[in-house]
Amino acid sequence: MENTRKDSNVENVVIIGSGPAGYTAAIYAARANLQPLLVTGFNSGGIPGGQLMTTTFVENYPGFPDGVLGPELMDLMKAQAERWGTNLYESDVVSINTDVRPFELKTLDGTIKANSIIIATGASANRLGVKNEDKFWSKGISACAICDGATPQFRDEELAVIGGGDSACEEAAYLTKYGSKVHLLVRSDKLRASAAMVDRVKANAKIEIHWNTKVEKANGNDWLEKIETINVQDGKGEINVKGLFYAIGHTPNTKFLDNKIDLDKKGYIACKSGRPETSIEGIFAAGDVVDSEWRQGVTAAGTGCMAALATERWLSEKNLSKTVIRETAEPEKRLKSSDFNEEEVNEETFDLHSEWQKGSYALRKLYHESKKPLLVIFSSPSCGPCHVLKPQLKRVIKELEGAVQGIEIDIDKDQDIAKQAGIIGTPTVQLFKEKLLKKQWQGVKQRSEFKQAIKNIL
Ligand code: NAP
Repeated sequence: MENTRKDSNVENVVIIGSGPAGYTAAIYAARANLQPLLVTGFNSGGIPGGQLMTTTFVENYPGFPDGVLGPELMDLMKAQAERWGTNLYESDVVSINTDVRPFELKTLDGTIKANSIIIATGASANRLGVKNEDKFWSKGISACAICDGATPQFRDEELAVIGGGDSACEEAAYLTKYGSKVHLLVRSDKLRASAAMVDRVKANAKIEIHWNTKVEKANGNDWLEKIETINVQDGKGEINVKGLFYAIGHTPNTKFLDNKIDLDKKGYIACKSGRPETSIEGIFAAGDVVDSEWRQGVTAAGTGCMAALATERWLSEKNLSKTVIRETAEPEKRLKSSDFNEEEVNEETFDLHSEWQKGSYALRKLYHESKKPLLVIFSSPSCGPCHVLKPQLKRVIKELEGAVQGIEIDIDKDQDIAKQAGIIGTPTVQLFKEKLLKKQWQGVKQRSEFKQAIKNIL
């Protein structure tokens, strides 16, 4: 560790949220030697890393002329924040006591005291609430085309996306890689997406745009089979689809504030135009949680920087900051931190005792020959939540000192295995012991859940 931990149980600054705003604030605060604590978020408000974890290529973030995958960009920001001494804390903040100094933040796991706070909790994808939504949730209906698009049930089938913004257009285009046709259902007579995105959708022969169309109901048996629609001109209709994806905008993640901080009419944190100060002195805000208008990765990063600089100034004016002393001016570069094998293994490279291997060859061999429990993660190339979960599983394996072996299966490459295993979305994790499936999880879960389940069968 490059830093000397400050001698106090009161944090200089706690940053809530791990999207571009949160990580940028962390980079600036850490470089100001404030050793920030960043609460990454876990269950509420989407996955750690924020909305860019569920996008494919970000083409408009400066510095990446060929685009960069959203999850990759977030991995880079996280690595940069950590390199300068940010401490990460995997939990959700459930409430803040703004009546006391230092502030008290209640998390899922305890209480943190902080002299200042930066709120960067972003916004979460909305659900539509069509009839039968709950019945077909994860059985055809999804809020994340980018995460779930590669699942076997959607291959060569007709699919539908609801929405008319950049997300809807991006997801419709993405889904044409897998589906035979994509219906883009727009409730008005125009797309509000950027011109470049609209051009991309209109040029794609596999996308049919249905204007003035709303979805009312989902139907099917065990899996979604058709949707009932209503169109302004043509009245009621039906479209046979095996997948329905929502891309209908976002709601700011401010519920945990319990109205203790001023919000605007739409529920976003109210700050003076162009300023990061909230209605409570010592609490600052940045990113999509304050911004109903621009909502870009780069604007979130910009306001994250402003919030950190304002916090640093405020802490120093109030004589509240305890800065850390660095042992070295330049922290060690730490981009390549993984000591796990990320290459797909084959007959020559397979190792019966390795802690983590990738691909169907490894799975088949270990399934038949290993005596240890096997933790299999089914991922897909652009699945943001998989980026969050994989390091967690690797940590579990390390903490259990190799008592369990990990295998990653890319469902895009190994479609047959995904089908056999009944995978309906990524990430899915299956725990096997002696060829028996002991437990299955879908989505990102806490490390302790995996650890406990493994310990139970050891
Ligand atoms: P958005 O711009 O708010 O668009 C939401 C869309 O959903 C709108 O077309 C809206 O229709 C529609 N909608 C809302 N409620 C609906 C309902 N109940 N039924 C049917 N349709 C409904 O959200 P977004 O597309 O997620 O984009 C958010 C921000 O992220 C934007 O600033 C966008 O530019 C950015 N973004 C950028 C990229 C990129 O650059 N690669 C990718 C994704 C997102 P109306 O138009 O009729 O209101």
